[in-house]
Amino acid sequence: MRKKLVAGNWKMNTDSKSGVELAKAVATAAGTGHDKVDVLICPPFVYLTTIAQAISGSAVKLGAQNCYFEKPGAFTGETAVSMIKDVGAGYVILGHSERRHVLHESDELINRKMIAVLEGGLVPVFCVGELLSEREGNKTEAVLNTQMEKGLAGISESQLGQVVIAYEPVWAIGTGKTASPEQAEEAHAYIRSWLAKHYSQAAADKMQILYGGSVKPDNAKELMAKPNVDGALVGGASLKAADFVGIIDAAKSL
Ligand code: PEP
Repeated sequence: MRKKLVAGNWKMNTDSKSGVELAKAVATAAGTGHDKVDVLICPPFVYLTTIAQAISGSAVKLGAQNCYFEKPGAFTGETAVSMIKDVGAGYVILGHSERRHVLHESDELINRKMIAVLEGGLVPVFCVGELLSEREGNKTEAVLNTQMEKGLAGISESQLGQVVIAYEPVWAIGTGKTASPEQAEEAHAYIRSWLAKHYSQAAADKMQILYGGSVKPDNAKELMAKPNVDGALVGGASLKAADFVGIIDAAKSL
């Protein structure tokens, strides 16, 4: 059985005081771990070290929200994978829709970052998902196919074992509109079948595929109860301890 993963993407939110308070509340809820649920938080870069200290001794895992693909050097403003590892983070969110659509990251750039993260021994949380116009034009599977084909180019089956995928329909991110459990399941099943076709059934069966898009404590359980939904990537609700803990508890209850 695949373990569930509940991941919080704090985006460009919190300050050092509120971040530490939030991280400590999540650490208290996560305790020393759960056999069926892992918990991950991804604060802004500048707070990674402080948050690593705040969650120390708990089972909460730490991730970054981005990275650069080059090794350390003359790349002003960028952050290398080795630096993320150095401060104790084990995950990196890549391909998030805000980086694709606001910061115009291409599939090719995301792929270079994916490879750098895997070569650096960290876990990429690789986000894919369609725009509303694409869903309405019945292009969801075509969009997912392109994002997966390009984003996972050159990634071997053994490397794939280190990847987490997050299906995040762009129209559901930060909008309060959640995909129905059936819509999420359909997209997740498509992603898993894509992985089986391009890698193997065994690799696809092991893959953690998270759903992201307005996940809240009151919809988390029915989304995560779907057979191909292995957890949640949570934005807004990960900033309120009670809501994020509610989502963790929903995963534990399944
Ligand atoms: C996200 O940013 O990954 C996300 C899913 O945001 P929200 O939960 O706020 O929709």
